[in-house]
Amino acid sequence: MSLHNALRATQCLALTPFLYCAYLFRACIPRSTHRTLVLHTESQLRTLFLRAERQLRILVLHIEHLRLSIHFLCAPQIVTAAFPLIHFVNRIFATTSTLITESLHSGRINRATPAQLSVMNKILSLIILCILVGPFTRAQENFDSVKVVPHKLTDHLYFLTGAGGNIGVLVGPDGTVIVDDQFAPLSNRINGAIKTIDPGDIRFVINTHLHGDHSGGNENFTHMGATVIAQENVRKRMSTSSTNLATKEVTPPRDPAAWPVLTFPTTMSVHLNGEDIELVHLDPAHTDGDVAIWFKSANVFHLGDMFVTYGYPYIDYGNGGSINGFISSLDRLIGLMDDKTRIIPGHGPVCNKADVQKFRDTLADIRDQTLAALKKGKPVSELGSLPIASKYDATWGGGFLKGKDFVIQVGENLKASLPPSKK
Ligand SMILES: [Zn+2]
Repeated sequence: MSLHNALRATQCLALTPFLYCAYLFRACIPRSTHRTLVLHTESQLRTLFLRAERQLRILVLHIEHLRLSIHFLCAPQIVTAAFPLIHFVNRIFATTSTLITESLHSGRINRATPAQLSVMNKILSLIILCILVGPFTRAQENFDSVKVVPHKLTDHLYFLTGAGGNIGVLVGPDGTVIVDDQFAPLSNRINGAIKTIDPGDIRFVINTHLHGDHSGGNENFTHMGATVIAQENVRKRMSTSSTNLATKEVTPPRDPAAWPVLTFPTTMSVHLNGEDIELVHLDPAHTDGDVAIWFKSANVFHLGDMFVTYGYPYIDYGNGGSINGFISSLDRLIGLMDDKTRIIPGHGPVCNKADVQKFRDTLADIRDQTLAALKKGKPVSELGSLPIASKYDATWGGGFLKGKDFVIQVGENLKASLPPSKK
């Protein structure tokens, strides 16, 4: 296990700079210079810098995306290992971008010396080396090393870990129900792991929300004969394309076989294998299609990404997420729990009510402090410099987001709901 994890962490770390250097090269260098790697004139260099400056700005956004990919692709411990490096690479790109812009404005690039030109050529050679190595590291980025492992909660209820979100599994004579299905390449392995618990067919797949690390196997399980159930907004979002406002990147609709067949607006009940399963959609939280799955007899919840243990949660504002809804949903869910309730997080080990309460209280404290700062007239861009989340960074800062980034995102979300300030 640990060897596999170490291998995958290494692959993630290696992939990051290679992939983006390759991207930078392809994007910013004229096709004709791919062959002759020598820059002959200062005007060529200036053109290159202008292209690079523009592309670097976009790259900073793309690296933010890469953080998301790793979040979706990897186990929590790998995410924790990879993020410091991504932060570091991101900072290098951002700083380089600023330096290039300053150089262009000051005219220093027009006065580039032969020595500086030589350095540029060395950098280009390095980038080309990265392009050659990049595909090999990317080829290794697969799911071969992922082991899907069942963990028992009761005689009928299990959860599986692999890569991506935790999978809940209810087995019995009426057929198997699973909650979430991780990534498509893992479907056969997930199916195999479930068959070691119970040989019955998978009858229902319930999605906690639309993200690919939780619903990526929908098509495959549909083809195996399962019926996918989700909140109605999940089907709406899976069946249409969406555009990332920052990067203009368009995500196409999912394969229709992935779309939920049974949908509901707020609640739905499923009764089989002696279990009463309540599917509860509350306020927009991680997305606008989150569902908490409550196995009432077993006293177990699967909360999807409304509750995670890797650090500051990702709130997908582009897919309808909301900090206020996150907190109000958790409040209502905590009201349904008791001290013996076990909670399967979207990512992380099984927790209890006190863990969810602490998670909720941390979010509420950050939200309240951020809101107070906004009401005092603090601009969103300056919220990160306030010590709002600093006391939580020791426990939450090693994950997907740093505290200051999380505070800014919360601030942007809260600002949108505040009345316009009076001048
Ligand atoms: Zn998610």
